[in-house]
Amino acid sequence: MSGLVLRDVEVRAGGRAIVADASLAAPKGRVTGLLGPNGAGKSTLLAATLGLRRLAQGSVHFDGLDLAAMPAAERARLAAYVEQSAATSERLTVRDVVALGRIPYQSVWQSGPGAGDEAIVASALAALGVTGFGDRLYQTLSGGEQQRVQIARALAQEPTLLLLDEPTSHLDIEAQLTTLDLLRERAQAGCTIILAMHDLNLAARHCDHLAVMKDGRVVAEGAPAAVLSAPLLLDVYGVHATIVQLPGHGAPLVVYDRARGSGAGPDSG
Ligand code: ADP
Ligand code: MG
Repeated sequence: MSGLVLRDVEVRAGGRAIVADASLAAPKGRVTGLLGPNGAGKSTLLAATLGLRRLAQGSVHFDGLDLAAMPAAERARLAAYVEQSAATSERLTVRDVVALGRIPYQSVWQSGPGAGDEAIVASALAALGVTGFGDRLYQTLSGGEQQRVQIARALAQEPTLLLLDEPTSHLDIEAQLTTLDLLRERAQAGCTIILAMHDLNLAARHCDHLAVMKDGRVVAEGAPAAVLSAPLLLDVYGVHATIVQLPGHGAPLVVYDRARGSGAGPDSG
């Protein structure tokens, strides 16, 4: 099958399986949202997909290619990754950070980006609206600005598989929509995109496919309207959800509240 296919993936840490029997199929050229509560295993699954966490069991294939067995240099020309928090201690400008995305294409004796690389970096900066920050030190940017720069770095890598871990968590509401629209365009151009996220309404509106994790397992997968059901959201998040369809609004809207008598709120002891 084309796209990203994970089968029975297990990742172990601290003497236990933190991801177990996790399977999913993210369709090629589509945006797949990876949902689930804190600690469900989303970041671990994304890292394992790119060979950054060792698989104790299972397989990861993209377009039939075994990603786990692929040499890292080859994988870097295929797949890009935006980590949940990408701190850097080095004094790099924003343009330098985005130019890191071109390294997989540069030969070892090349001293820096070529003219073609510079054009790609400029276009990635422009796409994320961060051209004006090009000469600033990355460390001096706000969290949301840094997040946009990291997405620009991943786009400069020209990946055919793009994994993003909560890429809109620090973005303002307009930047969330702009960024997710941009990812949708990349998907339509053929890139397969998987993003971990928390906002159910953004997921419903911007993803073609959803996979939901709980306790290290993928417990539901499919079209957003089929996956986002009240029983599933109660089971996975412990919230009471109402799913409404507003006229003129394509995606379903999810409204939710804490389930009575559950959770760890201030008055629950
Ligand atoms: P998510 O991204 O869904 O919030 P993570 O994949 O980051 O979840 O983590 C899944 C679970 O695995 C969490 O309970 C986390 O504490 C645990 N975990 C992650 N890495 C390690 C590690 N190196 N040692 C022990 N536990 C870990
Ligand atoms: Mg995470």
